[in-house]
Amino acid sequence: MNSTGSVPEEPVRLEGFATRDLYDRREKIFTRYAGGFFQRLQFFTGWPLLIGFFLLPWIQFAGQPVVTFDLPQRQIHLFNMTFFPGELWLPGWLVVIAATGLFTFTAMFGRLWCGYTCPQTVWTAIFMWAEQITEGPGQQRVRLAQAPWSVGKIVKRTLKHSIWLVCATLTGLTFVGYFTEMGALTLNIVTFQASGQATLWVVVFSAATYFNAGWLRERVCLSVCPYARLQAAMFDANTLTVSYDPGRGEPRRERSTEVDNAQTSERKSGDCIDCGLCVQVCPVGIDIRNGLQYECTGCAHCVDACAEVMQKMEYPPGLIRYTSQNALTNSATRWYRGRSVWSLAALLVLITGFAFALSNRAPFDVEVQRVRGELYQRTVEGLVTNQYEVQILNKSQGVTAYQLDVDSALPLAILSTREFTIQPGTRVNLPLILRATPESIVLANTRVTVQLCDIATSECVADSTSFQGPLR
Ligand code: SF4
Ligand code: SF4
Repeated sequence: MNSTGSVPEEPVRLEGFATRDLYDRREKIFTRYAGGFFQRLQFFTGWPLLIGFFLLPWIQFAGQPVVTFDLPQRQIHLFNMTFFPGELWLPGWLVVIAATGLFTFTAMFGRLWCGYTCPQTVWTAIFMWAEQITEGPGQQRVRLAQAPWSVGKIVKRTLKHSIWLVCATLTGLTFVGYFTEMGALTLNIVTFQASGQATLWVVVFSAATYFNAGWLRERVCLSVCPYARLQAAMFDANTLTVSYDPGRGEPRRERSTEVDNAQTSERKSGDCIDCGLCVQVCPVGIDIRNGLQYECTGCAHCVDACAEVMQKMEYPPGLIRYTSQNALTNSATRWYRGRSVWSLAALLVLITGFAFALSNRAPFDVEVQRVRGELYQRTVEGLVTNQYEVQILNKSQGVTAYQLDVDSALPLAILSTREFTIQPGTRVNLPLILRATPESIVLANTRVTVQLCDIATSECVADSTSFQGPLR
């Protein structure tokens, strides 16, 4: 029912998008292997991602893992930097850059992210490969699924699920390795000495991988991922999408690959021979000939499959191709247009701001607070002292030696320790005692700058406070 209480007669359709009823029962999809240029390209885009994911937790930089999310300490370690809770806006900024980049990229080039680099796509491809080598190509898998249980079927299924489980466990273990020391975690897991908590998380992430890539597959893209739903907001008629050219393909007519168009009704039929190969290779089970659909992940399997058919028919390739809706209607594709220029400009501003913030980020912080209680104290000699607490945060990944200095209109002496070393990623509180002669105090409240310097690099940070004393 709509807001007026009436039932709409027709489902609402997004212009340019074909839609399907979300309450349709989804059948299991037995995808046929397409081969071809774009599937080979996916191999080259997926592998760097996989290698990076599995290797990163093992790589050390200055004795520390390159990247670690230390949840108990609420810190993120990245190369030689440690981000503390007060600085989590910096990784947050990175997320905003990634989201803006994805918006810009999608507005111009469509769902290349989904088709080539999204972890869901890459892991699903690995699981489908395992299915292919254990149960055979598409039609064989259909027959196997329909066949009654037999020794052969049990062996094939066991083999497939074993490979899935190994892949899922490696993924779960590596994922948890981003939150703890990878070497120790692996050793503890294989020797059954890992803590209950670590084991639980490895099992949870392994199970999530197993069900996501093995069972849910395209359902995650269709029902869980919000990115697919936002396409209508990001796409326009100039966006590059995988599209079927109806002007060239229609009217489609089923015919054998031996019969070319010149022999059929004086070329009354289009180039599409209605072989259905583009549907059989589609991992989300749609027919791209029905127009742009939100389910389409832009994987281009249908482009490869159709190119093969076109080659057999000796027709030019590109009946299904990467193109824009404008190009399909014989208008020019405008790469530089309002939304792409603005989002590109916003992306550049965000990246520049981030680089500036990162390059100006000091590897340590100082914060000075007056000790509560008396405003000032008197020594036995009649001199005036003030007490402070200095909080120092070493954000670097190395033991660092620091020196403390003060700057003020008053001639102040530092009575507490001035030089000290602090362990990496540690916050310490140190006392600071300043002393002045009563004769020098001309104001009840004099500004004091406390400066902390890294002795090795001479890099300094400062905080200000006040020195309080009696007026003569
Ligand atoms: S693969 Fe090409 S020729 Fe075959 S049905 Fe699809 S669009 Fe038509
Ligand atoms: S229609 Fe299917 S096969 Fe073609 S690009 Fe979209 S998801 Fe891939």
